Amino acid sequence: MASDKQVTFVIVGGGIAGVTCAEQIASQFPSDGVCLLTASPLVKTVINFKQVSKTLEEFDIEEQPSSVLEEKYPNLKVIQSAVKLLRAKEHLLQAENGQTFHYKKLCLCSGGKPKLLIQDKPHVLGIRDTDSAQDFQKRLSKAKRIVVIGNGGIALELVYEVEGCEVIWAIKDKAIGNTFFDAGAAQFFIPSLEAEKKDRSLPCKRSRYTTDNTGAGHSGASGELGSALGPDWHEGIEFRGAEQSSSGVHIEYECEVDEIFTQHEFLQSKLSTKKSELGVWPAYVHLNNGKVYGCDFVVSATGVVPNTEPFLHGNNLDLAEDHGLRVDDHMRTSEQDVYAAGDVCTAGWKPSALWQQMRLWTQARQMGWYAARCMAADVLEETIELDFCFELFTHITKFFNYKVVLLGKFNAQGLGFDHELLVRCTKGQEYVKVVLTGGRMVGAVLIGETDLEETFENLILNQMDLSRYGEELLNPNIDIEDYFD
Ligand code: FAD
Repeated sequence: MASDKQVTFVIVGGGIAGVTCAEQIASQFPSDGVCLLTASPLVKTVINFKQVSKTLEEFDIEEQPSSVLEEKYPNLKVIQSAVKLLRAKEHLLQAENGQTFHYKKLCLCSGGKPKLLIQDKPHVLGIRDTDSAQDFQKRLSKAKRIVVIGNGGIALELVYEVEGCEVIWAIKDKAIGNTFFDAGAAQFFIPSLEAEKKDRSLPCKRSRYTTDNTGAGHSGASGELGSALGPDWHEGIEFRGAEQSSSGVHIEYECEVDEIFTQHEFLQSKLSTKKSELGVWPAYVHLNNGKVYGCDFVVSATGVVPNTEPFLHGNNLDLAEDHGLRVDDHMRTSEQDVYAAGDVCTAGWKPSALWQQMRLWTQARQMGWYAARCMAADVLEETIELDFCFELFTHITKFFNYKVVLLGKFNAQGLGFDHELLVRCTKGQEYVKVVLTGGRMVGAVLIGETDLEETFENLILNQMDLSRYGEELLNPNIDIEDYFD
């Protein structure tokens, strides 16, 4: 039944950005109404938050029914319905369930959607939410060979986790995982891909993502997206193909997909390949290096695009080059009283020399929290400074069961040739890379249990001149912590 509601604060999206924002604003304004509108039945909440050091943080994620949030914050109402229309000038939102909301302040946290290589092909699958991960698992159980396209975090974890199925991994770069690390680190990981699964039992310390098994976590009834998965999204889901043996990963470097065919299309195609030699498969992938692979299906893991669509029509929302909602240093979009946070937005302020936006779990939490504080400051007519968390990029994660810490300009992003690298590597154990410019540390990649993150974070933040230490900086026989204390 259609109804009209006046609410002070409306937040859109039950992912980590939206939930963090809603919780923060609800606790700061206990006598004002807060509405969280979300397309997914479960909401994602941060638990066990731990500030590891000045900027590094770790936490677990739990999918919870919305009632948990409502019990915790009596002024917070969670409504499971997708937003279909925004009329920013009128401060009005319309949801699919027919309800209309008049807000004072609105924060859009609708996340991203998979950038599918090819739309509407039955043999191409994107992985984003619990549903799509389960769909992948189901299809994998009958598969003998899959082709994975993409070189980001999802592809990296996927190719490592899949067992009992041959994986052809096509990447456009010279090395694996180049969103996160350089060719040296990629080389460090390669043996892990070749190792038998039983040997892959290195200790791991990382935030744990838990899914509810009530069958929730599904996309909205109207086909809207569920929340993006996060750290350890594959934990508890076995990725096993139809083969008994672990069939290995074959990497095709520096190539892109030219075309994906169904079996029928392939047979009709004019490709000069000897078709009969490729065997009979449900799908075929033609790469631009000339190779053709038959497979059961293709996983398109080529990133996400900000999910802005429902909000654009009739509004004057400024979009960034990556199609995110451009926000200023107060998380404000170009429409008055409309803020945005998480994967849907693009930081439009001049970033600190040591920070860059990456669509990651930690930043979704930080932006959601900061957006709430900015909304509050605006309402209270207070000033607010850009939060310290945007000073230095930090990310703790896990790849191939190794702890990975990324700090600052960890890949010398934007530094051109104006930098120097120091590397220390012990095969199978650790990989440490430091990026220096003008003798000062501006970034680091730490793989394995290096215990260096806090010291390096300090060295990056205080911009101490390290020229006189030279390579000693990574000398394993020196306790660097004592050195700089
Ligand atoms: P989301 O979590 O996507 O939430 C968006 C919310 O908006 C959802 O609740 C959705 O239902 C709702 N919504 C969408 N449209 C509407 C609408 N019209 N109306 C109402 N509600 C709407 N990051 C890491 O840091 N580490 C990792 O290891 C990692 N692994 C990942 C693995 C996978 C498979 C994927 C897909 C992502 C991974 N990420 C990882 C990225 C991370 O999950 C995202 O950066 C983060 O979840 C973004 O949070 P968000 O709140 O902005 O958006």
